[in-house]
Amino acid sequence: MVSRVIPVDVFDLVVFGGTGDLARRKILPGLYIRFRAGQMPEESCIIGAARAEMTDEGYRAFVGAAIAEFVAKDKQDAAVIAKFLARLAYVSIDATGENGWAKLAGLVRKGVVRAFYFSVAPSLFGDLAERLHAHGMADPESRIVVEKPFGRDLASAKALNAVLAAHFDEGQIYRIDHYLGKETVQNLMAVRFANILFEPLWNAQYVDHVQITVAETVGVGGRGSYYDQSGAMRDMVQNHMMQLLCLIAMEPPYKFDPDAVRDEKLKVIRALDPVPPEDIVRGQYRGGPRKDGSGEPSYCEDAGDAQSRTESYIALKVKVSNWRWQGTPFYLRTGKKLRGRESEIAITFKEPPHSIFGDEEGWRENVLAIRLQPNEGMNLTVMIKEPGPGGMRLTEVPLDMSFAEALGDEGADIPDAYERLIMDVIRGNQTLFMRGDEVEAAWAWTDPIIQGWEARGDKPRGYDPGSSGPEDALMLLHRDGRRWREIRE
Ligand code: NAP
Repeated sequence: MVSRVIPVDVFDLVVFGGTGDLARRKILPGLYIRFRAGQMPEESCIIGAARAEMTDEGYRAFVGAAIAEFVAKDKQDAAVIAKFLARLAYVSIDATGENGWAKLAGLVRKGVVRAFYFSVAPSLFGDLAERLHAHGMADPESRIVVEKPFGRDLASAKALNAVLAAHFDEGQIYRIDHYLGKETVQNLMAVRFANILFEPLWNAQYVDHVQITVAETVGVGGRGSYYDQSGAMRDMVQNHMMQLLCLIAMEPPYKFDPDAVRDEKLKVIRALDPVPPEDIVRGQYRGGPRKDGSGEPSYCEDAGDAQSRTESYIALKVKVSNWRWQGTPFYLRTGKKLRGRESEIAITFKEPPHSIFGDEEGWRENVLAIRLQPNEGMNLTVMIKEPGPGGMRLTEVPLDMSFAEALGDEGADIPDAYERLIMDVIRGNQTLFMRGDEVEAAWAWTDPIIQGWEARGDKPRGYDPGSSGPEDALMLLHRDGRRWREIRE
């Protein structure tokens, strides 16, 4: 199978925070890969911008080192890297002052696509928008890209939206949620809406429940005090997991068009029921011995606050109150320091209404599992007859589709989410970006949940590092007669 690389229009991309961690690890290596693939036209320019003083040459060396560190060795091609680096420039600029702005305005060309990536703290978004406007760069052709966290509650999200809306139309604002850039997440839409097979079954009549898991093995480590201000609900559920839930639960949009898709996602968020306290389990990882006998810090030690009540794990039972999903729960869980690193959506279908085979042992429901990581792909378990002459015994087998395997060489080259999303910004396609009203609706649902546990003074339950989370999370499903899927090591 040959995938086509369609070059985007010539662009100038300014990366504010161009020396930061995100730029170094994701944005700049991702742009190099798109350049190497022939998608980024050679006349395009990337301008790094941050306060540090640096020459263009110094910035090229910085980006060259980032490519050496974060791009797979077999994609590091000296001649291509040299060509790519020649397309880079650097401006020392202060978002909060006047330094550097006139130089930037002189560098950014008219007549090409102009994009401004705000890879800086959200507290600087307003300053950047204001100065881009003041220096004549906020024209209708320009677009801005903003990173999470988009607010920490409804009020702050509204304030951020207002700050951006003062100088940019909604159609120019690209709110990145890198989960939406994953191949599998888009495939979820393809599977649902390009096949007749699943959609007739995609409702409460046939779907027993849905599980969405985002498990990490790492703790909050060096960014503990930062993480402690947010916690798993704000960091993962309000944005990434909410987006996944929307893509599963939404009605077919009339067209694969940015606003048509986002309208349907918004309806799902608005249909979410408030979550009662008994349907929420929060956890914090305990400390533990390492294999080498040394101690491993607990969450509170990592966060630097012995009394912290922030959750490093959360599990919730979520109900979507509409005709399609009445009675089908969505179980969401995410956490740090769990036994495996895994992101998965699993749709468990109901049992057939009547078994002609009697009460067979080993009976399993059909499950469609969509793996986001590792090894993006899909797996559908179906029941078949166990081979051999031993009568009609049933066994389950997976119909497994690993994208990397199924697509051969092309599969091995699945673009990173950031690569795809940045190219979508240049193409002017907002389908995979969150609209302002979606973000606000997600906070409107999240706020009362967080306020509830804060008002009650709930303490998260402890769980052992390397486990599947707190015991109470198991009960959340057990009491409904269900089980979490195993988190694989
Ligand atoms: P970071 O490593 O702290 O980098 C911040 C960047 O902003 C640096 O280049 C810094 O350079 C620049 N900067 C700071 N103050 C500035 C000012 N007044 N004017 C101009 N530039 C300024 O942060 P990061 O991890 O890259 O994160 C950037 C944004 O992406 C944040 O909003 C973060 O929440 C979000 N994000 C990051 C990740 C990630 O994996 N890192 C993931 C998701 C979202 P100077 O100090 O030289 O100015």
